[in-house]
Amino acid sequence: MNLLIMGLPGAGKGTQAAKIVGKFDVVHISTGDMFRAAMANQTEMGLLAKSYIDKGDLVPDEVTNGIVKERLAQDDIKGKGFLLDGYPRTIEQAYALDDTLKNLGIQLEGVINIDIDPTKLVERLSGRIIHRETGETFHKVFNPPAEGYDEKDYYQREDDKPESVKRRLEVNIAQGQPIIDHYRAANLVHDIEGDQDIEVVFADIEKVLSKLQ
Ligand code: ADP
Ligand code: AMP
Repeated sequence: MNLLIMGLPGAGKGTQAAKIVGKFDVVHISTGDMFRAAMANQTEMGLLAKSYIDKGDLVPDEVTNGIVKERLAQDDIKGKGFLLDGYPRTIEQAYALDDTLKNLGIQLEGVINIDIDPTKLVERLSGRIIHRETGETFHKVFNPPAEGYDEKDYYQREDDKPESVKRRLEVNIAQGQPIIDHYRAANLVHDIEGDQDIEVVFADIEKVLSKLQ
């Protein structure tokens, strides 16, 4: 299957993507994860990305389109399919993705749109913690790791601090609507209620994907 998962920051894309790849064996491509890996390795692209990400801004389209195009051209994609998470985030990226897929002879099959009231997201993002060793995402209140967990084993993302969160939400709300409209026009969008327990959200996604399979 060739899929997108969309939703505002904190909607639950990464959480659900991990569950989807566990069950459906598609390749998870998260542009946010790719940028964080490049930042950790201090590559030229990572240093450039950091200057935008820390402020809560989007990384320029040329850079983002380039890394996605390169990733989608790799061999595993044609065999397994993909789940793109966090891309496209501008309408220009959506058009670039259309071109990339067309050139590769790949058809997009569905867009999972996790719908949630933006007022819920600050709480989601401010409590998000990541396990240092595995990169797995948790939430201090809504999805805590095992009881008595050691806080030192987890970190908070730099861009989940209050200064960046406000800007990220503004930017993503402003850019998001035309992208969804673009995919609605192609009849690809499946809306999922995001303000439910993680397992219930996943059950709703599973129903959609089982039909697409
Ligand atoms: P995104 O990838 O869309 O930015 P995440 O999957 O990282 O979002 O989720 C953001 C935070 O909210 C994480 O701390 C995660 O554990 C938590 N979370 C995800 N889904 C739910 C949910 N359905 N209910 C409550 N908290 C959730
Ligand atoms: P995410 O992990 O998806 O929340 O992304 C973290 C940050 O990486 C975003 O706030 C952006 O600064 C940057 N980023 C991720 N994906 C994109 C994209 N498609 N376009 C531009 N910037 C992106």
